[in-house]
Amino acid sequence: TELAQIRNFSIVAHIDHGKSTLADRLIQMTGTVAERDMKAQLLDSMDIERERGITIKANTVRIDYPAKDGKTYVLNLIDTPGHVDFAYEVSRSMRAVEGSLLVVDASQGVEAQTLANVYQAIDAGHDIVPVLNKIDLPAADPDRVKEQIEDVIGIDASDAIPISAKSGLGIPDVLEAIVQRLPAPKGDRDAPLKAMLVDSWYDAYLGVVVMIRVIDGVIRKGDRIRMIATNATYGVDRLAVLRPQMVDWPELGPGEIGVFTASIKQVRDTRVGDTITHERRPCAEALPGFKPAQPVVFCGLFPVDAADFEALRDAIEKLALNDASFTYEMETSAALGFGFRCGFLGLLHLEVVRERLEREFDLDLITTAPSVVYHIFMRDGTMQELHNPADMPDLTYVDHIEEPRIKATIMVPDEYLGDILKLCQDRRGIQLNLTYAGSRAMVEYDLPLNEVVFDFYDRLKSVTKGYASFDYTLTDYREDNLVKMQILVNDEPVDALSMMVHRDRAESRGRQMCEKLKDLIPRHMFKIPIQAAIGGRVIARETISAMRKDVTAKCYGGDATRKRKLLDKQKEGKKRMRQFGKVEIPQTAFISALKMD
Ligand code: GDP
Ligand code: MG
Repeated sequence: TELAQIRNFSIVAHIDHGKSTLADRLIQMTGTVAERDMKAQLLDSMDIERERGITIKANTVRIDYPAKDGKTYVLNLIDTPGHVDFAYEVSRSMRAVEGSLLVVDASQGVEAQTLANVYQAIDAGHDIVPVLNKIDLPAADPDRVKEQIEDVIGIDASDAIPISAKSGLGIPDVLEAIVQRLPAPKGDRDAPLKAMLVDSWYDAYLGVVVMIRVIDGVIRKGDRIRMIATNATYGVDRLAVLRPQMVDWPELGPGEIGVFTASIKQVRDTRVGDTITHERRPCAEALPGFKPAQPVVFCGLFPVDAADFEALRDAIEKLALNDASFTYEMETSAALGFGFRCGFLGLLHLEVVRERLEREFDLDLITTAPSVVYHIFMRDGTMQELHNPADMPDLTYVDHIEEPRIKATIMVPDEYLGDILKLCQDRRGIQLNLTYAGSRAMVEYDLPLNEVVFDFYDRLKSVTKGYASFDYTLTDYREDNLVKMQILVNDEPVDALSMMVHRDRAESRGRQMCEKLKDLIPRHMFKIPIQAAIGGRVIARETISAMRKDVTAKCYGGDATRKRKLLDKQKEGKKRMRQFGKVEIPQTAFISALKMD
């Protein structure tokens, strides 16, 4: 395809402003997908995306669009996730395209992730076309939102396109604007092949599938290629474009986006951001690559059944291929045996990875208490990164502890401002700034990350009835009075439940944890004390009373099948439990115990 007839763009917006629905309409109106195969949020192909109604992975589709100028254009669209935990997915996708459609819900206006995502697009050097969505809603106020885009984001919104992605109103204008207002890609067809590895995933039938954006040169089926960072060489077995299903394609030239398979056995050979070139005639220099993601929350993942460790290793490697923002290393725990210490971009990210491992690879997992990374400064002048509170060194060798801080940006309607200030204050926040954009307040807070990662987002949503939006960036590490709190169940410390807390909050956190665990751990045949302790000192305590009788006792001897059924049910429940000394703790307890009310 001629460069002048290609347009590559991403769709960015705050969560729920209608990116995926707009992508649906663009796909539908151009006849890319047959009407009978069309369904809502078509590009959200993972089960978990469809169930939760959110986009997790950036998804790509190639569209042919016959424009008003009589020429047919190739449009490569990338739909991106909106949640702050998946910002890395957004930033990577943006490197592969030249422009963005900025979607803003005309009944809501600019939100925290509208800002975060549009700044990423501006950083990537994109041309931006603002689109005002949901104008079918009575509450839509396109003029006010236009003004807001200009005031808050600082880009020209006079040509913003009013649409309803739901009804299809205004979609032809969006298609024309993509062609007229976004730039064509640049590149040299005769230069040596230079392609960017944008994404990859593991397919049970096809093996490793690699998505690329060609910068220079041409790639064809059968070519011998080299991945520069890993120095691995392969032959291209299959070359395709995404519509959004794979459709075989003879060649991809400059500006084009597509996928290939190459019998890749080592999933580690494919690294997002790497440069792919021809083995025989390589390009002179590699692309700058992507900035690696910085995981901020760590937790342990262990198989419920120790025999599944190798299966877990295999699953984690395959999943990491599709998610460059998650890290892992082997870990052993006294109580849990062999597993992995994994790093995530936030708690939603953690939940998504765990759920994908369980579903896509059919594993039963235990997740230990999540923790941020602390810097432990030792008396001998050295510093250790602490990824796991269980590894906290002996305090006599510790000089001081620093924790990560963030700058949070929160946008909220006026009437909820008081609740937000209180929430931030409760979480050891320091107010930095407070401004107004129309009737919405924009506050900036300096907060400790560990007060935010677990349930801040949920709390924020509930105190503002969903009207607040939130985004954050890591700023620095700062010293504070932090201690390790241990949880003892039946007098045995459970390392997987250890956590770092601020000294002033230790007692109330300890009490909360014990109360929660009391509800989360089922009764046993004996009494179970649950304690929170700092060093050797117990700061909170609860007791789970003993169970009275066996659940099968009431079945007498007569009904054997009924008895078997009950026992089977117990066994099924046990799969999700883990033995700690004499006590069984359900898998869900590890995260639930941390959420504050
Ligand atoms: P995303 O998170 O930005 O991808 O948003 P979605 O495309 O998943 O849409 C979020 C919700 O808004 C869904 O329930 C859509 O049906 C709805 N929605 C999207 N566009 C419109 C629109 O133009 N009008 C109305 N009324 N609802 C819309
Ligand atoms: Mg979406």
